[in-house]
Amino acid sequence: MFDKDMLKSILAAYGPSGREQTVSDVIRSYVEPFADEVYNDTLGNLIAVKKGTSGKKVMLSAHMDQIGLIVVDIDEKGFLRVSNVGGVNPVVSVAREVKFENGTHGVTYFETEKHGAKDATMPELFVDIGATTREEAEAKVQIGDVAVYVTNFVEMGSRVSSGALDDRIACAAVVEAFRTMQNVHDVYAVFTVQEEVGLRGAGAAAYAIEPDLNISLDVTGTGDTPKCGRMSVKLGAGATVKVMDSSVIVPPVVRAFLAEAADEKNIRWQPEVLRAGGTDTGAVQRARGGILSGCISIPTRYIHSPVETADMGDYEAAVQLVCAAVAKQELPHR
Ligand SMILES: [Zn+2]
Repeated sequence: MFDKDMLKSILAAYGPSGREQTVSDVIRSYVEPFADEVYNDTLGNLIAVKKGTSGKKVMLSAHMDQIGLIVVDIDEKGFLRVSNVGGVNPVVSVAREVKFENGTHGVTYFETEKHGAKDATMPELFVDIGATTREEAEAKVQIGDVAVYVTNFVEMGSRVSSGALDDRIACAAVVEAFRTMQNVHDVYAVFTVQEEVGLRGAGAAAYAIEPDLNISLDVTGTGDTPKCGRMSVKLGAGATVKVMDSSVIVPPVVRAFLAEAADEKNIRWQPEVLRAGGTDTGAVQRARGGILSGCISIPTRYIHSPVETADMGDYEAAVQLVCAAVAKQELPHR
C-alpha cells in the first residue's frame, strides 16, 4: 500500500519552475528522519543522502517543479495577461481555476472575438482575479508572479488523477523508496528544480555529486487512449525502463541493469520510447565528462493538463525497482 497522505501533500504544494521551496520543505519533512544528511544547493535542488557501504554513489532524481502561467502584464480593467512557464497547452488552460503563491485565486478565459476555445493561443489567454482596475489587481498580484492550476485528487480504483503528477508522483516514489531501501551504495536522492524549463537543476547537482550512476524518475506518455499517437506504453503494465526520449539515449548497459534488477524481483516493467519531451536523465548524462544515466518512468495520461492520470500499481512497481537497483552489488560500467 502506498502512502496516500504523503502523495497528496506533495501534490498539493505550490511549486512552478523557479519557485520550488514549498515543495522542497514538504519533501524534506518526509525524508529527513531517514537521511544521514539533507541540504538544498545553490539552485534550490533538495538533496537527501543515505550512506551505503560500497564506496559507490547512486543518484536518484525527480523534479519538484510544475508548469505554470507567469504574469507579463495587467490591463486597465484588472485582467492579467500571461505567458507559459514550461510546456503549457493554452487550449487546456481555458476555463480553469488557478492560484498564486500568496493564495490569490483566479479563473482563466480567452479572447472570444476571433475563434473558439480550441484555437486559443497563449497571447489570447487572460486570468480574471475579480479585480475591476489595474490598481486593484496590482494589490494582489505582481508582474512575474506565477499561477498554477487548482486541481482535485481524483481516485478511480487503482488510478489517480491530479495536476502536477508530473513530476510529484515520482518525487513521492523516490521518498517512498528512500524510506525503505536497503542500499549498498551511497544514495543521493535529488529533488530537482526547473526541469520543465530545460532540465536546469539536475545537471548542476550531478556535477557536484559526481555519481557512478544516475536514475531519474519521471512520468511518460502512453499510447492507450482513444485515437492517440502510437506508443507501446500502457497504464497498469508496470514502471517503464526508458530507451530514449528527446533528451537522452540511455546506454544499453544501464537499461540492462534496470531490466535485470526488475526481473530478479519479479517487478513488472515495460520498455519506453518517448517521441517528444526530455527528462533530467539527459542533463545528468552530459554533466562532467559524462555520467551513466537511466530513467524509470511512471506511465501517465494527459500530461501537462489538470487531469494527469496514473496507475498506483505502476507507482509501486517504480518504488520496488528503485529499491532493487540500489541494492544490487554490481553497478553498470563502461
Ligand atoms: Zn516531468
